[in-house]
Amino acid sequence: MGVPKKRRSKMRQNTRRPYIIEGDLPNIIGCPHCGAPTLAHRACSKCGTYRGRVVLTTKAEKAEE
Ligand SMILES: [Zn+2]
Repeated sequence: MGVPKKRRSKMRQNTRRPYIIEGDLPNIIGCPHCGAPTLAHRACSKCGTYRGRVVLTTKAEKAEE
């Protein structure tokens, strides 16, 4: 098994994927149903829809019932 020869400095480690530190993931899209920012390929956390179908029961919907 490959073993790293040198320990990576904190700076090198942190500069590899800068968007993770910023918390700015590239796969955030606007929900086509309600427009809230959601992760791509995931059901919307606001309205619970994915590809035009309701797949989750959100807190807001439970309150309405
Ligand atoms: Zn939505």
